[in-house]
Amino acid sequence: MKTILFNLNDIELEKFVTDFGWPRFRAKQIREWLNRGAPDFSVMKNLPVDMRDKLSETAETLPLKIVKKLESSDNQTTKFLLELVDGEQIECVLMRTTYGNSVCVSSQAGCAMGCKFCASTLLGLKRNLTVNEMFSQVLTAAWELRGDRLSDTKPNGDANNGDVSHIVVMGTGEPLQNTENVIGFLERANHDLNISWRRITVSTCGIVPGIIELTKWGRPINLAISLHAPIDELRSKIMPINNRYKLNEVLNAAFEFSDAQNRQLMIEYILLGKRDENGDVMIYNATPEHAQQLIDLLRGHNVMVNLIPWNSVDERDFASISGNAVHKFQDILIKGGIHTRIRRERGADIGSACGQLRLKNKKDVK
Ligand code: SAH
Repeated sequence: MKTILFNLNDIELEKFVTDFGWPRFRAKQIREWLNRGAPDFSVMKNLPVDMRDKLSETAETLPLKIVKKLESSDNQTTKFLLELVDGEQIECVLMRTTYGNSVCVSSQAGCAMGCKFCASTLLGLKRNLTVNEMFSQVLTAAWELRGDRLSDTKPNGDANNGDVSHIVVMGTGEPLQNTENVIGFLERANHDLNISWRRITVSTCGIVPGIIELTKWGRPINLAISLHAPIDELRSKIMPINNRYKLNEVLNAAFEFSDAQNRQLMIEYILLGKRDENGDVMIYNATPEHAQQLIDLLRGHNVMVNLIPWNSVDERDFASISGNAVHKFQDILIKGGIHTRIRRERGADIGSACGQLRLKNKKDVK
């Protein structure tokens, strides 16, 4: 099996290089390329060609490979389908926005949470991702942004400089089922890539012990809670995790986190409809009554509700609701004193919603 150089520490990398009879400084050069996210050895232009060839035969750069790369029609979103060493596939999305370059990172291969509207969970959980596998997703996006401009300044989290500036752990998987590695990954992103804590967001379906762990960790990141329903009865129908951790428990842990870090809590709320027997779309979780219930839950707390249009998933029996219904729901929340915004859809044309690409690829292969 090929050695994955990114997984070696400095001493191991040096040994790998000197075992071939190459001088030590080559290890440092290779490390610089690895830290930039170099996808293979052919790009390492300051190494002799025969060395690059030998490296290609015996080693890989990162612990993942790009299987597919899709560009949205507006060129603002790039989606990667990545393959890990054991053949598992994950997704990662780079979004170039007005506020910066944001990477959406997967924390698991697959997902065990079983949310009824989501594509990521349809094939179940395969395994947790390692720190290096999460970090390499960011490096893949960094390479996409900066390529081989090795002589430029070091990455410092500055989008104006072409760096990754934001990380959202909102890809496939439940990060708080893999909390230790997620924390290790974020510590490293902050330290090595200079991505500030305030530009990092972790999204969870509501694993209470994990939220408590984040509070103990004590970094001022943003926490996002995937709420999607304002009462337990409805939430349990679409999110099985709600049978384990009830709404109040989840929100109390989340408020404690955001109070301790003095951060605004983000609430994610997908707007779901369902078709009746005539094929008409009925609002499922976003009626005026639901809006009032949501206000009662959140009033008095420092929160921002992100309303998310549902990205349709063929296997899932939901429907998108009209723009009119979305605005009506938002108006009630705003009148109730709750900060609310509607999330812009990004990369819908390239299957950018949670797990769609991975799922499609598996189906195509079958
Ligand atoms: N497991 C974590 C993070 C991954 S999901 C969590 O639940 O928060 C990231 C966000 O995308 C969640 O809010 C999730 O509910 C939402 N999501 C999943 N499928 C979606 C779809 N088809 N359309 C829109 N949002 C979706």
